[in-house]
Amino acid sequence: MAKSGNSSMDRLLYHRFAKLSLPRHTSYPAVPFWSNRVDHSVISHRIGQLAHGNLPTSFYVHVPFCERLCHYCACNKLVIGRGNAEADKYARRFIDGLEQELKWVNAQSNGKRWNVHQIHWGGGTPTWLGVEEIAEVWALLTEHMSIAADAEISIELDPRVTSSEQLQLLRKLGFNRVSLGVQDFDSNVQQAIQRIQPAEMVESFVRECRQLGFKSINFDLIYGLPMQTLESMERTLSRVVEMSPDRIAFYRLAMLPDAYKWQRTFKAVDIPSNELVLDFMLRAVDVFGTNGWDFIGLDHFAKKTDELSVAYRAGTLRRSFQGMTTGAELPVIGVGPSAISCLGDLFAQNETQFPLWANLVNARGCATVKGHQLSVDDSIRQSVLNQLYCYRYIDKQKFHGQHNLNFDEYFASATEAWLEMEGIGLIENSPKRLSSTPLTGWLLLRVVAATFDAYLPADGWKNGVSSKVASQVG
Ligand code: SF4
Repeated sequence: MAKSGNSSMDRLLYHRFAKLSLPRHTSYPAVPFWSNRVDHSVISHRIGQLAHGNLPTSFYVHVPFCERLCHYCACNKLVIGRGNAEADKYARRFIDGLEQELKWVNAQSNGKRWNVHQIHWGGGTPTWLGVEEIAEVWALLTEHMSIAADAEISIELDPRVTSSEQLQLLRKLGFNRVSLGVQDFDSNVQQAIQRIQPAEMVESFVRECRQLGFKSINFDLIYGLPMQTLESMERTLSRVVEMSPDRIAFYRLAMLPDAYKWQRTFKAVDIPSNELVLDFMLRAVDVFGTNGWDFIGLDHFAKKTDELSVAYRAGTLRRSFQGMTTGAELPVIGVGPSAISCLGDLFAQNETQFPLWANLVNARGCATVKGHQLSVDDSIRQSVLNQLYCYRYIDKQKFHGQHNLNFDEYFASATEAWLEMEGIGLIENSPKRLSSTPLTGWLLLRVVAATFDAYLPADGWKNGVSSKVASQVG
């Protein structure tokens, strides 16, 4: 067996599967399997039930605008510089649309205030909005909310476009967590991806966030970017260690130039080889592991004192569209273009295109265009996948306790796949547990997860699926 670098890493086995396209399962079933059968009448009923039960709720706001285009981007965004003559009109149209959407959401509660325990603003770039615009959106959003004293209120920030004034306002409004798009500190890499933000800029931004009292700081890093070398990655990792964020999400570049045509500016010769990309991940596991971060799930690292790590050890960690989360599983109401609502066993997604979203909210308040109503089987598989992605194993007795079902009998159709996986060292399967093996199985968690996905062909785990519905594993 070809093993090198980390002694528990089987490189040949890794590369055999890393090239496959498989879902990441931020939802089950994955978004490409949703349909347009979930419309505004379905979601209206479910949101109403939430309000009447006074259930703890989470709100997600998607701000779709960005100042300039990063050439690796896979997000739903509209690039328009604030200096552009049209920018203010776009901002107005967005805020007015949001007002209509929130009016509709609030109408479903019949005057009852929302019992809110979590708010997240993502994008795009939420701080593309100016200070007064942020304050206006916040006022509209929270008008009918009772926000819990210990609510988690988070926002995604781009250090290049976020001013001190904006940061101070956010803190004053009650935001207590920030997630920074960092990606890489090397200037050649930043040039290649057209995202120029020197380490010193991020460092002083982090200092300011800490001085203002934001409780948790997350860094998003991306590996597999053009111009990355082992040396440049070492430097980036040690700068990250110096800045000491509470959490780190270390994502593999989703390279899909057919879908994201701006990625075509990357020169093939600058893209790191698969061998090198694996080295990046192994270095990250090593560097962050030896400097006090726990390696959690597929691609997250958290300091032992951070709530994510605490929740991991307490067995209460969950996975959502916003990554790893702690605490109870809250229903999420999403507003803004492309926002996703997760309402128990119902997923609903808004229209993704900004002008179409604006037309829909102005015409009828609700912009839901697709979603999925989970069957009992979907819900069972979703909870199993949640455990696997957070903990890298499934406790069969816990499964029996939760669902009153025998794990091996319920998933009997996957037995053959698991036998094969055990034979090649991807999993260990005992009467009590099904576990992915460190480190190869951990890094190929999506392959193991594919055996629980009833929307994929039975051999999907070893042959992959179309890159139109999933991204490359490693
Ligand atoms: S700031 Fe974020 S959302 Fe906007 S273009 Fe860059 S990566 Fe995409």
